[in-house]
Amino acid sequence: MGNGHPMRDRFAAGTQYIGGRLRSGTSGRTQDVVDPATGETVHTYELASAADVDAAVAAAREALPAWAGATPGERSDALHRFAGVLADRAEDLAHTESVQCGKPIRLTTEFDVPGTVDNTAFFAGAARHLQGQSAGEYSGDHTSYVRREPIGTVGSIAPWNYPLQMAAWKILPAIAAGNTIVLKPAEITPLTSLMFAEAAAEAGVPDGVVNIVNGAGRDAGEHLVGHPDIAMTSFTGSTAVGRRVAEIATKSVKRLHLELGGKAPFVVFDDADVEAAAHGAVAGSLINSGQDCTAATRAYVQRPLYDAFVAAVADLMATVRLGDPLDPATDLGPLVSHLQRDRVAGFVDRARAHATVVTGGEAPQGDLKRGAYYRPTLITGAAQDSEIVQCEVFGPVLVVLPFDTDDEGIDLANDTPYGLAASAWSRDVYRAGRATREIKAGCVWVNDHIPIISEMPHGGYKASGFGKDMSAYSFEEYTQVKHVMYDNTAIARKDWHRTIFGDRP
Ligand code: NAD
Repeated sequence: MGNGHPMRDRFAAGTQYIGGRLRSGTSGRTQDVVDPATGETVHTYELASAADVDAAVAAAREALPAWAGATPGERSDALHRFAGVLADRAEDLAHTESVQCGKPIRLTTEFDVPGTVDNTAFFAGAARHLQGQSAGEYSGDHTSYVRREPIGTVGSIAPWNYPLQMAAWKILPAIAAGNTIVLKPAEITPLTSLMFAEAAAEAGVPDGVVNIVNGAGRDAGEHLVGHPDIAMTSFTGSTAVGRRVAEIATKSVKRLHLELGGKAPFVVFDDADVEAAAHGAVAGSLINSGQDCTAATRAYVQRPLYDAFVAAVADLMATVRLGDPLDPATDLGPLVSHLQRDRVAGFVDRARAHATVVTGGEAPQGDLKRGAYYRPTLITGAAQDSEIVQCEVFGPVLVVLPFDTDDEGIDLANDTPYGLAASAWSRDVYRAGRATREIKAGCVWVNDHIPIISEMPHGGYKASGFGKDMSAYSFEEYTQVKHVMYDNTAIARKDWHRTIFGDRP
């Protein structure tokens, strides 16, 4: 297996992390990890079987009592050390993430890795601040309080677009709250999740608290979701797969958290700063080659600014440098795979029949031809109900459409099944404020698009799912609240017993 690439040596012991050690999968089926910038296979591994999932769940269940019973301070200490180990390995993590995903090294170095370190440090602090209603004598005769308890062993599934950050978003709130976890990353990007789990162990998170199974969605994934010893499923990925995961989880009455697709609108009112909006639209649509669930995908621009906005976006897109992801001068890398690139090209080619491709709409030739590259693409003239406006393309493609009244701009923004993120661009606080209230999405930016922070929740409305990643709100997903009620009267015959005993003495 493999071909002498350093990634192969790094994971020679296997690509499953179960009970604190790397080991090989046992499915008998292999999966290549391909550098999408070159098409070169950098690692080949054996996928997890159902038996590997069972072993990971067993390890997580075994680790649960001690980890759930640790004090918040003990868990917090381990997470603080964990953040330190990740920071020490920043370069290795950034490099591996760039190679397995094709992300520009500038993005992994300045966004993926520091974001993950910060998230880890955030949950180290948050572990000691689980919130609940104060204890009190709400009935008059009893003292009531809530206990916030871990759910048990969590089974999580992640996508390929931000493998390290998605591992962090799934693992950190779960373990900070005292759960143990089995995570299944996307099969094409298995490596940084393993490095994340190894760093946790090195920081003192006990073996079995974090387990990684790298297996196929249809077998290892479904087996994990349906596993009777898993108490909760947290899934990030497409809405189509989310529906299937929900069906399986519902059958076994599991707690469910779904972070699904997005189709973020970008609404530019006619008093906006066009230069700021154009820069925001280009950066917000091209980040991670557009493979971002919150990426700006549909820009609605009020008629007076429309022409200037389209011209500015086209000019800026032409300045974006495609190149080797490991070169710090590269702005845009390839898509995650040739398959994804062809999928994106298919969307654009079908749109050509009824819309205008202003710039891009093709793969570059020359040195980049062997990689999964696709040029930044700007489309105008598409119908609101067309595929390119309604469906998640997940590539470096921005559609721009005009609108006339503020009402129309907001209606168009809300007119897809998705509701993950949106932005409104205006210098009028009342217009922007209205957009923040009326756009149905889990996040609305004003005069920006993309920034995320550990302290604030991330999650969808509508077909983008339910539940929150990051922030203290994620503890609502990863804990269950128990009401404890003590009688304070010591009276044998309580008033409310009249409902049964009537007025009998
Ligand atoms: P995907 O839905 O194809 O796969 C996601 C994960 O599900 C992978 O690990 C895959 O192996 C697994 N899977 C596939 N079939 C399965 C099944 N039948 N049962 C259980 N697991 C299964 O998504 P993707 O292509 O990897 O990622 C892109 C999608 O993820 C986009 O739709 C994007 O919007 C979404 N996403 C959402 C968020 C968010 O926070 N809402 C964040 C990142 C990505």
